[in-house]
Amino acid sequence: MPDLTGRQVPRQTVAVDLTWNDTEDDFRAEARAWLEAHVPTPALPSGDTTDGFARHLEWEHQLHDARWSVVSWPEAFGGRNATLWEWLIFEEEYYRVGAPQRVTQNGIFLLAPTIFEFGTETQQNWYLPRMSAADDLWCQGWSEPNAGSDLAAVRSKATRDDVAGGWVLSGQKTWTTRGAFCTHLFGLFRTDPESERHKGLTYFMVPLDAEGVTVRGFGRLDGDEGFAEVFLDDVFVPDDDGTPATMTRGGILGDVDQGWGVAMATTTSERGLTLRSPGRFQATAARLVELGKEHSNTLTDRTADRLVDAWIDAEAYAMFTLSDVTGIVEGRSPGARSSYNKIFWSELDVRLHEVALEVLGAEAELEGPWVKGYEFALSGPIYAGTNEIQRNIVAERVLGLPRK
Ligand SMILES: Cc1cc2nc3c(=O)[nH]c(=O)nc-3n(C[C@H](O)[C@H](O)[C@H](O)COP(=O)(O)OP(=O)(O)OC[C@H]3O[C@@H](n4cnc5c(N)ncnc54)[C@H](O)[C@@H]3O)c2cc1C
Repeated sequence: MPDLTGRQVPRQTVAVDLTWNDTEDDFRAEARAWLEAHVPTPALPSGDTTDGFARHLEWEHQLHDARWSVVSWPEAFGGRNATLWEWLIFEEEYYRVGAPQRVTQNGIFLLAPTIFEFGTETQQNWYLPRMSAADDLWCQGWSEPNAGSDLAAVRSKATRDDVAGGWVLSGQKTWTTRGAFCTHLFGLFRTDPESERHKGLTYFMVPLDAEGVTVRGFGRLDGDEGFAEVFLDDVFVPDDDGTPATMTRGGILGDVDQGWGVAMATTTSERGLTLRSPGRFQATAARLVELGKEHSNTLTDRTADRLVDAWIDAEAYAMFTLSDVTGIVEGRSPGARSSYNKIFWSELDVRLHEVALEVLGAEAELEGPWVKGYEFALSGPIYAGTNEIQRNIVAERVLGLPRK
């Protein structure tokens, strides 16, 4: 039987076990009970506004105190040592009950997996507990005014200062989600001035209260204040000697000049498993089904068909994720596969919301959450690397097609 690339692969009969075991059922019951008892009602205002962010932070502290903020992390870092399967269960329950958006997501879902993979033991012990407790709040500093899709074009640089023992950072980052509310930024800086493109870049972690950092918040099209530009004017990051005195002033993740590989680990998390778990879309699909029932009198056959298709797609994404987790548990990295994952979840999110607006008809103009959700869903094909770029990656690296 040929696979996607035309290679012949032996036909296999594999029994897929989709049942949860007793431990997993118990974990689900415990998570559900806690979430149902604690999720704030009414829902919090958007976490991408000043007031809303402060309210979300209180929620993050509550999650941490009950050890639900990072369930799959080791207990020493604030987690429960949960398996990836249990993490998926927690996510399902989290979204099912309509719990608040995770304003800590860029730290716990993007930077943390990279610290687990590339950080020294000292860095893990320093950064991870502070992140799980929502004491350090991280934003992502990839994009620059002339480096978006073409991330390798970053011009922010870090210059070596051997006398002072560290690096001097300068440049500008933009589209930094929640940058105006966060305490720290991770991003790429060119450390080898002679280098080009993907070479000579280094992955830095920088406190935003460092001297020389200016953060200028600005609004999104949907009216929330969620974006910021971050300007770095000779910001000093000392060599990390493992002491609090240097760690509080930032550091380097991975090796100097090897930042591209480290950054790709972060983007794999963003496009693949951790940023957008299936529970989020299954919960939206379940709400869509309820909406369809409430409007059954006016539902056209076409909209009903689209609704069912969107629900099936959310289930398909859950199945796909189970196969991804199986791969990870068996030691295989998703790699470029995370790109078609990202295309799927971002386009699914748009479809789910489009169908909701179709169900609501003219009423949609008056309906807050679905419209707000639709507006945000439209940005899914752009952030985490645009879908055009993901299609290029799938074409070249998964299907092996020529670049031109
Ligand atoms: C909601 C949201 C949150 C974001 N949060 C962050 C954040 O926290 N941190 C951060 O660093 N960035 C963030 N971004 C920025 C995001 O990563 C960039 O917008 C994205 O990478 C695209 O870059 P660009 O906007 O410069 O567009 P460009 O790179 O200028 O692209 C413009 C258009 O050209 C297409 N294009 C470009 N090159 C190619 C090519 N080779 N082949 C085919 N098509 C191509 C693109 O797909 C796009 O449609 C966020 C964006 C959004 C919308």
